[in-house]
Amino acid sequence: MFNRRKFLRISAVSASITALSKYSTVKAADLIAPGNLPIVISTWDFGIAANKEAWKTLASGGRALDAVEAGVKIPEADMNNHTVGRAGYPDRDGHVTLDACIMDEFGNCGSVAAMENIAHPITVARLVMEKTPHVMLVGDGATQFAVEQGIKKEKLLTPESEEAWKKWLVKAEYSPKINIENEQRRPGSKYNHDTIGMLAIDVKGNISGACTTSGMAFKLHGRVGDSPIIGAGLYVDNEVGGATSTGVGEEVIRNVGSFLVVELMRQGYSPEDACKEAVNRIIKKKPVAAKNLQVGFLAINKKGEYGAYAIQEGFSFAVCDSKKQDLLIPGKSFYKESK
Ligand code: ASP
Repeated sequence: MFNRRKFLRISAVSASITALSKYSTVKAADLIAPGNLPIVISTWDFGIAANKEAWKTLASGGRALDAVEAGVKIPEADMNNHTVGRAGYPDRDGHVTLDACIMDEFGNCGSVAAMENIAHPITVARLVMEKTPHVMLVGDGATQFAVEQGIKKEKLLTPESEEAWKKWLVKAEYSPKINIENEQRRPGSKYNHDTIGMLAIDVKGNISGACTTSGMAFKLHGRVGDSPIIGAGLYVDNEVGGATSTGVGEEVIRNVGSFLVVELMRQGYSPEDACKEAVNRIIKKKPVAAKNLQVGFLAINKKGEYGAYAIQEGFSFAVCDSKKQDLLIPGKSFYKESK
């Protein structure tokens, strides 16, 4: 109730600004917030296309929450993307199970995990947030809820995914490779890692985030990683900033990674230093294992400053603001070369 009232009040105050933005988005942004806002950032090279979609909402004065949902739906729908959404690789039993979460500027959040037969988990996560008293729905319950909300059930396992799974079944070895979770890379992409984590700040200076994935290919049936876990794969605090993660989700969950990054920014760390400290925690606890696994964090603070850090070289993130819509930045890393 409080949140809703607050939202309505903010909306009313900003109505004239939104109207202004129809004529000149950049000027409206400059009026509201320091730094180059609005802005959207996201993980990996597929973040470029996702950011561009999110930008349409941000540039017209829309809400960061709407921007991140629209943005991550691009890789979710991409039939060449085997690590997020519709065409994701299955688990070891041949089930495509999807994970996603979303968080807004009021601290509201929603999540789905191990959900089957629904192509856009991020939309279901948002519906969980907005239409239920809960935060997280899993498995059949998540699918049932999606259908009740009018979303069409469909078979997700594509012929390509099925072929890759059958090839994997020959040896049936589960050993995620650094930056290359799946042998089959996306056309034109150097890397083929998975999760899209997206963080946006809108013209009002409000922050939202979204995170969506098909998880680790050929995982155990029922396995859930960090991506749909609030505080692990995604966290937003509108006073401070937001963070998201990609890589081996188990390590992110063990360290409550994204929450840690946001709390470090609250203490004054820059986004990059906060991500670096979160990576260092993982390495400190598992110095031997960390040599062969990848985790990357991406963060943005309230001013729109951003940064990233990963265990291994090869992590990249995409940035989109009024100056440039298709920036891809290599993330700094603890190890300079992937093992
Ligand atoms: N974090 C995802 C998971 O563990 C996978 C990834 O981003 O590489 O499910």
